[in-house]
Amino acid sequence: MFADKVALITGARRGIGLATARLLAEAGAKVVLVNRPDEADGEAPLAAIAEELGRGCAAITADVSDSAQVAALYRSVHQRFGRLDILVNNAGILGDARLGMIADEMIQRVMATNLFSVITNIQAASKLMRRGGGGAIVSVASIIGLRGNAGQVVYGAAKAGIVGATLSAAKELAADGIRVNAVAPGFIQTDMIRHLPAAIAAERVAAIPLGRAGTAEEVAEAIVFLASAKARYITGQVLGVDGGMVL
Ligand code: NAP
Repeated sequence: MFADKVALITGARRGIGLATARLLAEAGAKVVLVNRPDEADGEAPLAAIAEELGRGCAAITADVSDSAQVAALYRSVHQRFGRLDILVNNAGILGDARLGMIADEMIQRVMATNLFSVITNIQAASKLMRRGGGGAIVSVASIIGLRGNAGQVVYGAAKAGIVGATLSAAKELAADGIRVNAVAPGFIQTDMIRHLPAAIAAERVAAIPLGRAGTAEEVAEAIVFLASAKARYITGQVLGVDGGMVL
């Protein structure tokens, strides 16, 4: 389904990003894995994943919260592949703190990583996609951006911002044949939630009608659907992948 397509995924080293990279590569896409460097091993872990995926996949190390690095990233994609068909804005970090404990540095870091990066990636990706006659963009928002959560004011604001950016970009880019959608995962078993005390995790699961946390693969399936031709008449949507948690 994705033969000859080039797909760029941010935050592709772990969790939902890695699961999406695997699915897209299995479906025939050339995947550009993007992640910040590993603190200990630098570029090596990401390069190893690209090699394992094969099929012309590539690893590019970049911190997506830095717009200069994002610009360099797309220059490199243009040089190596000459086109871009799919962008998955997945990189994200938590920023949990009660209002009284939120520092400016935290607001800037979470906003730059989770929201600013989505806008700069959409800007740069859409230029390349337009030249190729169209494309599909899927950003990873969150149920927290739709429903809110005590202690997640900054994270929730950034994720709600992704929804706003998705709706406006969908309207702006439709004429160029570029669809723009988002997924809003609920409670998904990845490293991001592993730090939670067992009692809080159990409370979250109890609020899920389907009775369990989701998997990275289940979110990846929804992302791949929205990126595919099967979703060719869908744009400006936010698809919940949450086991009914939003209800
Ligand atoms: P994860 O396992 O923590 O993976 C996040 C990935 O993003 C990591 O590979 C991380 O790199 C990368 N990353 C972080 N900051 C980056 C930056 N500045 N530049 C480049 N890469 C960066 O988390 P996940 O659960 O898969 O989350 C993926 C997305 O889903 C996030 O946007 C998250 O907010 C969203 N989400 C998750 C859940 C959930 O329950 N898990 C629910 C709703 C939404 P490192 O390896 O260097 O840290």
